[in-house]
Amino acid sequence: MRVIGVTGGIGSGKTTVTRLLKELGAVVIDADKIGHELLKPGGQAYQAVAGAFGRQVLEPDGLINRQKLAEIVFNSPPDLAYLNRIMHPLIGDEVRSRMEQYQGQGVEVVVIEAPLLIEARWTALVDELWVTVAPEDVVLKRLEQGMGLSHEEAEARIRAQLSQEEKVKHATAVIDTDCSLGELKGRVEGQWRQRQFDSRQK
Ligand code: ATP
Repeated sequence: MRVIGVTGGIGSGKTTVTRLLKELGAVVIDADKIGHELLKPGGQAYQAVAGAFGRQVLEPDGLINRQKLAEIVFNSPPDLAYLNRIMHPLIGDEVRSRMEQYQGQGVEVVVIEAPLLIEARWTALVDELWVTVAPEDVVLKRLEQGMGLSHEEAEARIRAQLSQEEKVKHATAVIDTDCSLGELKGRVEGQWRQRQFDSRQK
């Protein structure tokens, strides 16, 4: 089984590239989605996060409001570090368990999509690390238009992460997503074929 990690800054195109890899036959593990599951009542991170951040992130029905949590941590580096210390080991365990499961099922290519793959030190789990990049003005436009963030919120989220330059240093492939979707598809397929993941070519 080959394992590709897909990471990159916020709004850099990780999800789009991962979707294209899925279309090519990869099985996807979405670290963000695992994090969301862990934060649900009964999830393994729920008590710790609800206890630490309290009423400011809790809905009347007890659900953790992830948007409120994001607003807090993206404006407070110590809170972000604290949240990451709770979440990363738990997400890492679940990623490893799914990888074992897919290995057992004979899956050929697994993609781990994780915004903080490098920061959480999961690079040892992957054979390849694809880093998605786009110019900052393009990312800002995507965040403001796509996610409805204000310019200031979008900038705060970009600054809360490891810089694009740092991420690229760890990359085995850099995918520039500042192009049409058709062109991006071609770029991803090109990388895929270069590595002969395409079973028709073996
Ligand atoms: P996040 O960190 O918010 O999860 P991401 O890195 O996963 O973001 P995407 O969700 O893939 O990024 O892309 C952000 C937005 O930009 C989406 O609305 C997506 O449709 C758009 N986008 C990405 N790549 C392209 C492209 N090449 N052409 C047009 N739109 C694009």
